[in-house]
Amino acid sequence: MVPAPARPCFIRADFLLPLGGPRGRAERIADGYVLWEGERIVAVGPYTPAVGRRLLAAHGGGGRGLRVIGGAARARDAADLVKLPGVLLPGFVKAHGHDHEPPLIGVAKDVPLTEWLDGAVNVFTGFINERRAALTRRLGKSPHLITYLKARLDDIYYGITSSMVHHCNHNKYHVAEIAEANRIAGTRMIVAVGAQDRNYDARILDRPAAVAVRRLDEAVERFGDEPRLRIVPGPDQCFSNGPELLVALKGWARAHGTLLHIHSSEEPRTTAWFVKKYGETPVGYFDRIGILDAGTILAHQVNCTAGDLGRIARRRAKVVHNPLANTILGSGMPPVMEMLRRGIDVAISTDGSGSADSQNMLGAARLAAQYQKALHRDASLLPAQQVLELVTAAPAAMLGFNAGALEAGKDADLILIDTRRPNLSPTRLDNVVENLIWASDGSEVRYVVASGRVLKEDYRVTTLDAQKVIDDVCRLAELAFSWRRRAGAVRGTGAPR
Ligand SMILES: [Zn+2]
Repeated sequence: MVPAPARPCFIRADFLLPLGGPRGRAERIADGYVLWEGERIVAVGPYTPAVGRRLLAAHGGGGRGLRVIGGAARARDAADLVKLPGVLLPGFVKAHGHDHEPPLIGVAKDVPLTEWLDGAVNVFTGFINERRAALTRRLGKSPHLITYLKARLDDIYYGITSSMVHHCNHNKYHVAEIAEANRIAGTRMIVAVGAQDRNYDARILDRPAAVAVRRLDEAVERFGDEPRLRIVPGPDQCFSNGPELLVALKGWARAHGTLLHIHSSEEPRTTAWFVKKYGETPVGYFDRIGILDAGTILAHQVNCTAGDLGRIARRRAKVVHNPLANTILGSGMPPVMEMLRRGIDVAISTDGSGSADSQNMLGAARLAAQYQKALHRDASLLPAQQVLELVTAAPAAMLGFNAGALEAGKDADLILIDTRRPNLSPTRLDNVVENLIWASDGSEVRYVVASGRVLKEDYRVTTLDAQKVIDDVCRLAELAFSWRRRAGAVRGTGAPR
């Protein structure tokens, strides 16, 4: 793992969007800089010659010297404090995703969620689980680590520095490898460790509930000291977790002062089936058994009633909206405007690469805004500034990360997006936020810094051998999908058809 730089680091660009600080989240700064030491930001603001002189006096010359990102290894005078073309902003915070899905892009498309799970996710994760030893021998490293490293590469590519990974289904057994991938990549992660005890593949049911609780205890024992990793309960679904198990997991979360993360009310058919079978909505169920509170993060919440929204608002539970996955799978879209009107905390995320089918957070933010504008025939809804906050500052607050904004004392998590690319030209101070949402294709992320470490430098990922990661995942996918063509139908989810 790359250590945090020993010397203070400086980056300066045409534009700076702090997304926080004394002037509020909407401040836009022309010619801005960020200075950090170790893992923390120490100064942020407009760059002036006086600022440059002050920084050089404090750190330059005979001192340890400033490292200038995109410029001098050791700044000696003001000419070394170069201004990069582009915009500085906080790294994106992904509040819901699945690191086991990168090999699944473009697979089992044009079908709804349950068919997609059984046509893509359960085939793949079942395959790498069952043939893990043989695949490890053949590929030189475990198929899980190969998959999780590709997910880390994808995140760094798109400027995601922090994420909550819903580590569900068969993956719940492989916390060690996702921790290893995160450590190698240098990102920050909450691992929501999966659980299920009904309506799922019988081989992986957690019975009794103590099995799932013990898994969490073991993960904390092994990885509790990792500086950039947190373990939380991540029961897979409302329908695959009975009350005893959910109450036990929520009890664990409360005892550890942490979150609980779960999929809720995603596919219309499954939600309707749940209501019919159990006589209550998923949210009604969570509320009745006492697991709905400010520490519960619901992914999706697409198909819900006014009563559900009232309960979520009253209990101060949070919602992660995943517009890419919800539209591609035909799940529908959650009532985002109504959620916001009721004061519910909402974050925008991508979901896993298999359903999204990318980790482009700006693309997810764009689709969220575009959809609500069209649905309500109101162009004023979800302006660019608001959706940018929903992929940075808002999810950071939701997940308890000291990130999502550029302010002194925050973790040094920031990205530089090159605004001189053809699709982003011309960018000025008055349209920089709007261009990010409406004109970016996500590939313009030129620098990524996480916890003070430069993870992407002039488009090159520094912590991973990108070509090797890609080669490995392509070989693995080839093996998985040639096997899939021979394998029979998979029924992993247990969800109704
Ligand atoms: Zn998901």
